[in-house]
Amino acid sequence: MEKKTSIRWKLLAIVLFPILFLGLGIFFFGIILIYGFATNSVRDEVETTTYLLKGCFDLSVRGDYVYEDGIFKKGDINITDSTMLYEIKENSDIDTTIFWGDTRILTTIEDEYGVSAVRTKAGSNVRQTVLENGENYFSNRIDINGVDYIGYYTPLKNDDNSIVGMVFAGKPTESVYSQVGKIMLVCLVFSLIAILAALIAGRRFSESMIIDIGLIKQYLHTLSDGDLNIVMDERIVKRTDEIGEIGIYADKMRAALKNLIELDALTSLYNRRSCHSKIRALIGEEKKFTFVMCDIDWFKKINDQYGHECGDYILVSISEMLKNSVQDCGFASRWGGEEFLLIYELDLENVKEKVEKLLVDIQDRVFQYKEYEIHVTMTFGVKEMTPGIPYEDAIKVADDNLYKGKKAGRNQIVC
Ligand code: GH3
Ligand code: MG
Ligand code: MG
Repeated sequence: MEKKTSIRWKLLAIVLFPILFLGLGIFFFGIILIYGFATNSVRDEVETTTYLLKGCFDLSVRGDYVYEDGIFKKGDINITDSTMLYEIKENSDIDTTIFWGDTRILTTIEDEYGVSAVRTKAGSNVRQTVLENGENYFSNRIDINGVDYIGYYTPLKNDDNSIVGMVFAGKPTESVYSQVGKIMLVCLVFSLIAILAALIAGRRFSESMIIDIGLIKQYLHTLSDGDLNIVMDERIVKRTDEIGEIGIYADKMRAALKNLIELDALTSLYNRRSCHSKIRALIGEEKKFTFVMCDIDWFKKINDQYGHECGDYILVSISEMLKNSVQDCGFASRWGGEEFLLIYELDLENVKEKVEKLLVDIQDRVFQYKEYEIHVTMTFGVKEMTPGIPYEDAIKVADDNLYKGKKAGRNQIVC
């Protein structure tokens, strides 16, 4: 047999893989964004700090920068003081350095043993860019005493624009990235929670859809095996989406099929075939019941006099009366032509009462068809079902009684 493919895996794949890929994509894209954003904001911070520091010297004191015998001066004022640099570090965690030429003369940078980086020198890249070309220099990988910094250098100039040194501001790369790492961890946790929630929701949704499609499949399978009494599962009936609609249409199809097979097309009474199976069901349930075979009198004349359509109208009208009579206590079937078999789940006495009323109601009724007023009568043959004998025999007796009634002048009941 050819292997059948199930929509289960296809559906799960369609729902789950995009969530997984989208989730991971958003996570990695988020990391790149956060990383870029962090680097940019640190760059802005350190850049601003170098300008502020330089501005402090340039605006507050007049004269050229001088560095002699370890004393750093601007004009005549001694500015060999790292207090401001340490204050910046304390407030913003930014290390700052003043260079004379390429040599650090004031700095907050210390090695791991607390030894100041004073008198150490800037790298050749920085020297060339800042001191020789007079440009600013930024890098997120500046090695100072074996520690990586994100840092910014700007030239320190006299009033005549001659470059005498540099101002540096920077943050250890590790401290920046450890903060970024913390943010990323939070992002990762949230991303994972979101992915997990989406996966669970997606799986639940697709699983419930798969289960319901399975239920409809089972329903149709049973229907195709000929069971027209199958009931649609509550789960499907309660659904308000397209799957629920498929379920409703499948059930309507079953009902229509059942009517088509069980009911007579003109009168909507049970046909002879379904009448037999309903009788067998009653016998199976050991129910007591009575047969009434009945036939419209002189029906051929009605057809001949008023036409076949009028005959149909009379058949439908009488069928309605028969249905009303058996309502809640049995059922009516069209046995053939203008002959009907009624089954009452009542004993003989009660059936007689019912049938007498029926006979009177029919004979008293005026059937209005177009301009014609038509009167109809019916003859009835009654036989109570005797347990243990074939029910066909009881029907035969009811039929014989009907025949007797016809012979005796019609419009009567024979028991
Ligand atoms: P009786 O009192 O002896 O029963 O006489 P009758 O004329 O009713 O009986 P008969 O068997 O001679 O005629 C039955 C007629 O019913 C013949 C047939 O054309 C008509 N008939 C059967 N089925 C239908 C139907 O579906 N529609 C119509 N209009 N007529 C039908
Ligand atoms: Mg007849
Ligand atoms: Mg007949």
